[in-house]
Amino acid sequence: MVIRITQIDDEVDDLDPVDTAATDPGTRLSPPPGVDVTKIHAGYLGSFVLLHGIAALACLPWFFSWAGVAALVAGIVVFGQFAITIGYHRLLSHRSFHAPKWLERTLATLAMCAGQETPARWVAWHRVHHLHSDHREDPHTPLVSLLWAHVNWLVYEKRDNLQTFSLYDRYARDILRDPYYLWIEKIPLASCVFFVAHAAVFALVGGGLSLAAYGPSAEALRLTASLLVWGVALRTVAVWHITWSVNSLTHLFGYRNFDTPDGSRNNWLVTILTSGEGWHNNHHADPASASMQVRWWEFDLNYRIIQLLAQLGIVTRVVPPRHVRDRLRAEAVGTPRSPAELEIPLSRAA
Ligand SMILES: [Zn+2]
Ligand SMILES: [Zn+2]
Repeated sequence: MVIRITQIDDEVDDLDPVDTAATDPGTRLSPPPGVDVTKIHAGYLGSFVLLHGIAALACLPWFFSWAGVAALVAGIVVFGQFAITIGYHRLLSHRSFHAPKWLERTLATLAMCAGQETPARWVAWHRVHHLHSDHREDPHTPLVSLLWAHVNWLVYEKRDNLQTFSLYDRYARDILRDPYYLWIEKIPLASCVFFVAHAAVFALVGGGLSLAAYGPSAEALRLTASLLVWGVALRTVAVWHITWSVNSLTHLFGYRNFDTPDGSRNNWLVTILTSGEGWHNNHHADPASASMQVRWWEFDLNYRIIQLLAQLGIVTRVVPPRHVRDRLRAEAVGTPRSPAELEIPLSRAA
């Protein structure tokens, strides 16, 4: 069963926005315990600088092609929207719906190719964020600084790198029960390996198509280079900044529907960039829900996609918003039903 958005809208139509954040945006925090701001994480900083440098080649006319632009847009949808926001975030981090293993692992593999760390690490960091949001233990609160929340939290060494087992044991145990995700963790520099492998596949396919179109020529070389610059480097950088903007902008700028104990806000710009993740205050108020929509105009495209997949029978156990879950539980008191029938998983994180 999938709860229709119109049902949700009717029940929260009289909701008034909350003007004040529980966490004062003027508060300044130090970086979280365990972060060593005297040591740069060379791997992250190096990859950020390298990819931004290659992406900047898109400014040169020689690298432009409409095929490259199409690869950029399609790549943002596939890697940014489907893999990161629906896969890593709503599916793996919050278990807000259930997907068959082939789909879950496909989304996680694509997310790895987006250069955003392994499933266990991404999920663990995100669950820590929800648990300690905008408090000192939050890995990327903007109360340290806007730049910290956006990217700097990744640039410095964390002692928890030495305590990965403890981090995973507390926050990603369910992820590592899957042998595929456990296998990924055992690959040295797994994120880098997946990224380079997918770029190589992209080069082979793009090169092959370019040769088929133009034969062995300078034009084929130019089109291949264009596909790599626009479809891999620029797309990766764009998806990084789109994902990072959820951590930075939506904890500083926007309005609030719920007086959550953090500075989360609903930000329409981030919503457009992420197809729904920008309704971040709604999400912090009810992180288990597959939907981030509360008001009728807070359109959540990612939820609509999850709904569509459920209607097609591909995904199941889509978790509805809290007030709908409460109503279903109340209705179930008179007629006992299993949690599966109520589309509520037996256990879920965050
Ligand atoms: Zn947040
Ligand atoms: Zn979340």
